[in-house]
Amino acid sequence: MTRQAAPQKVTSKEEALQLLEEFDHFLFDCDGVIWLGPDKIPGASEFVELLKEKKKTYAFVTNNSSVSRDTYKKKFEKLGFPDVTKDIIFPSCYAAALILKRDLKIPEGSKVWVLGDEGIEHELKEAGYVPLGGNDEALDEEWDPAHRLLKVDEDVKAVVIGSTKKLNYLRVATTLQYLLHKNRSIPFIGTNIDKTYPGPFGTTLPAGGSFVNYMSFTSSRDFIDVGKPSPLLLDNIIESCLFDRKKTLMFGDTLYTDVKFGNDGKLGGDAGGSLLVLSGGTSQEELDLLDKKDESLVPLYYVESVGRLLELLRN
Ligand SMILES: [Mg+2]
Repeated sequence: MTRQAAPQKVTSKEEALQLLEEFDHFLFDCDGVIWLGPDKIPGASEFVELLKEKKKTYAFVTNNSSVSRDTYKKKFEKLGFPDVTKDIIFPSCYAAALILKRDLKIPEGSKVWVLGDEGIEHELKEAGYVPLGGNDEALDEEWDPAHRLLKVDEDVKAVVIGSTKKLNYLRVATTLQYLLHKNRSIPFIGTNIDKTYPGPFGTTLPAGGSFVNYMSFTSSRDFIDVGKPSPLLLDNIIESCLFDRKKTLMFGDTLYTDVKFGNDGKLGGDAGGSLLVLSGGTSQEELDLLDKKDESLVPLYYVESVGRLLELLRN
């Protein structure tokens, strides 16, 4: 089977059952698929429970680098998901630590400069690295061109940048010194490319990709993206969860990260392996208006939500 030109909407029990027949492994984006901010998407935990009953395997992958796997694990517990263990949760802060170690071969014990929230520092520490920068209170001090942290620590082996609630001139300036140091050769990791995310009270808030691209612009450097749709991240997940790529389906609410992740990563074999849910950042109208020429953005399937899939299956 080759890729179809338009996504297929899942509308019947037969189609939903066929989906479970076709795939053995399921990858879920979190925000917009499993939950919306603090609230669970109705039916999401029951759908995951059903996968478990059917002996399917699954994992969760999110471009949010602000909090660690430990914090996500607690959130899954709080929202009533059955036994979601740390080894099947892949936030992009963990992806950064994983890729530093497994792909870039940065030795444990190395110092890593961070511009980002605590999730990055937490995961780097857990992987045996020494994070510098980040939430260091010295970086909250008044701007001073003679500030001690503007002097580069020669032992820093990589720079990781993600979303931060504490952006200020000193953090930007210190990070820039590392990006320019050694003729711009210290590896520069960006946790994700997302521009925005839906915030509370109807706001749209800046996401990690805004910070990564700001530093990319100011340092005139490209970065290694470790979030979706990075194939590096997918390779690591497939390997550590023992998924068969051809039998894996990616669930997401965003075309340029989630759907592209599944499609570029050759999930589902030649037919494709991505499913768009309309419970998050993409509306039916946006899907209808999508330029289908870029096949990497066209999902194989789409459905209102995981809750709707559950409803169809239980019908
Ligand atoms: Mg999402």
